[in-house]
Amino acid sequence: MGIYEELGIRPVINATATLTKLGGSVMPPEVVAAMQDAAHCFVDLEELQVKVGARLAELTHNESAYVAAGAAAGITLAVAACLTGMDRALMDRLPNTTGMKDEIIVFKSHRNGYDHAARMVGVKMIEIGTATHTDTAELETAINDKTAAFLWFQGGMSGRADFPLQTVIDICTARGVPVLVDAAAQLPPVENLWRFTQMGATCAIFSGGKDLRGPQSSGLVVGKKWLIDAMRPNGNPNASIGRPMKVGKEEMVGLLTAVKRYLTLDHDLRRQRDERVVALWLEAFDELPGVQTARSFPNEAGQPLPRCELVLGPQAKLTRDQLVQQLRDGDPCIVAMGSGAPNSLFLNPMTLTDDETAIVQARVVQLLS
Ligand SMILES: *Cc1c(COP(=O)(O)O)cnc(C)c1O
Repeated sequence: MGIYEELGIRPVINATATLTKLGGSVMPPEVVAAMQDAAHCFVDLEELQVKVGARLAELTHNESAYVAAGAAAGITLAVAACLTGMDRALMDRLPNTTGMKDEIIVFKSHRNGYDHAARMVGVKMIEIGTATHTDTAELETAINDKTAAFLWFQGGMSGRADFPLQTVIDICTARGVPVLVDAAAQLPPVENLWRFTQMGATCAIFSGGKDLRGPQSSGLVVGKKWLIDAMRPNGNPNASIGRPMKVGKEEMVGLLTAVKRYLTLDHDLRRQRDERVVALWLEAFDELPGVQTARSFPNEAGQPLPRCELVLGPQAKLTRDQLVQQLRDGDPCIVAMGSGAPNSLFLNPMTLTDDETAIVQARVVQLLS
């Protein structure tokens, strides 16, 4: 009996995305093996963090790198590093920011739940712009001697009511302000591991448990050596603000293995496979009464991968919510994501095995025929 069966937990066929609430991603065997290998003895954790970071930096063409307990923890530590630098007294004081630069500039249109990871450091979030437009002059004006960093969120929230990241980097760099890029879900494309930092961002922060398929509770921060050096004492195992965001030896080694694997993947082949699945689905679902289909590209995180959208008209056998519920209640349990529109949903091949793509197709056809 497997552990999930023993606990009465139904495994899920995940047709949504690399969602944390569904377990993030599934680790490939070599990642699990590396974690198991790391688990068999004691090591000096800080030394391991430094050595793993050096390998990760080399692999991703960055000055330095750090393994955090998820991308959100990476944000916390990067923000803390901008406030404290290498000053231990300041690290001990956090989240009390007395005596520190403690303003983080962010686009109003980028505000989202993940900025909690920055706010917990005790900083003030300084919004620029409105929900519909931001002028570059607003950034120039917002920067002052209390500015600690600019926090850019790359994903569904970027590209609207902001201005280009390169412009942000140019303005901030000229004024000595670090730019932190939350790129948690910005893989693929694999080149993003170095693209943001080569643009001049101080760091880019990725989730280890999304498309990298590393440990779910891992995150990768790549970027400037001074920033990563200041993140280390702010993080575990030191009794600093990052202490509750512990990264174990197994996660460090698991993430390194996942990044190595990711760099050797044939990403074109993977994209072609997803395109083939979506094309098959479109063909199969087009026949269904009251159903309209479309290839949706890029996906919700802006990743260059296709999804299949189903729009259920009045003639369709089920409403969107009924379909999502019946997929979930069936055996095996299939989780699909509704779109913004009330009668439409997405099916995403990204997190599905070939067998699962066929199961999803058969169940949707069965439920809507
Ligand atoms: C997923 C995500 C995060 C959080 O990443 P974790 O690795 O789960 O901590 C942060 N920001 C954005 C934009 C995300 O998509």
